[in-house]
Amino acid sequence: MTCNTDDVAEGLSERLLKCLEELDDLKDDLDIWTDSLEELSEIEDAFEVDERNRLHGKTILDVGTDCVKPLYIALKFEAQKIIGINEDLSPYSFASDIEKKTKLLTKTKIRFYDCSLFDEQNLKKILRKEKEDIFDFILLSKTLHHLRMGECIAKERDQKHKCLPDEESCIYKFEEQKIFRRLFQYGKRVIVFEAFYPQGDDEDKIRGRGGYFTKEEMKQMFEHLSEYYRVELIKPLKYRLAKSKLKKIESELRQVDFVCFYVEAK
Ligand SMILES: [Zn+2]
Repeated sequence: MTCNTDDVAEGLSERLLKCLEELDDLKDDLDIWTDSLEELSEIEDAFEVDERNRLHGKTILDVGTDCVKPLYIALKFEAQKIIGINEDLSPYSFASDIEKKTKLLTKTKIRFYDCSLFDEQNLKKILRKEKEDIFDFILLSKTLHHLRMGECIAKERDQKHKCLPDEESCIYKFEEQKIFRRLFQYGKRVIVFEAFYPQGDDEDKIRGRGGYFTKEEMKQMFEHLSEYYRVELIKPLKYRLAKSKLKKIESELRQVDFVCFYVEAK
C-alpha cells in the first residue's frame, strides 16, 4: 500500500514538473514576442522609409533573428523581402508558421535559415538561392555582442579567469574593423540595437561569443566607426556621430542601458 501511494506521488510530481517546464517554455515564447515589439519601437527610425512610411522594394538581412521582428516589420513597413539567419533556430518553434502563413497578411517574403554570419560558404549558398547579393539593410538586434571572434579577454574583467576547454567563462575580443568590414559585404546600411548590462549574465552566450559590451568597448567601437563610416545615432538621441561628438556619446552611454544607431559607407 505504502509502495503504491509512493508511486502515485512520484507520478504526480513528475507530471507537475513536466507542466512547469512546459509553462516555462511558453513564457519564453511570449517573452520573445513582447521583447521583439519593444526592440522594434526603438529601431524603426533607423530604416529609410518612403513618403508612405513603407519599405517597398527594400530587402533586409536580419542577423541573429528572433523570427518575430521580420513579421512585425513586414506588417508595418511592407518590405519586399526579409531573410533571417540564426545559428540556432530551434528555440523559435513558430518560425516555419511565420514563414508560411505570413502570406495571408503581407506580400513581404520572409525566409529563415540556420546559418551563422561567420559561415561564409553556407551564407553565400543561401544568397544565391534567394537571388540576393547586397541587402538594403542589415539588422543586428541584440546580436552584435555575439559577433566576438578575437582572443579571450575575460582576464581583463576577472583576474582569476582561466581559459578552460569548454570556454564557458571566456569572452572573445570584439574586433570592430573585421566585423563591420564583413557586414558591409552583405548590406548597405547596418542597423544596430544593443542593450548592455556589463554586470549581467548573457544567457545566449556560446563559448566566448557573447557577453554584453562594456561602455569601454562601445567607446572603442564608436571611435573606429566614426572615423571610417557615417554613423547616425537613433536612440537615445538622434544625431550624426562625428569624431567631435565622441565625448557626448560617452556621457550619454553612462545614463542609458541601450543604444540604437546605423552605419553606412561615408
Ligand atoms: Zn578565456
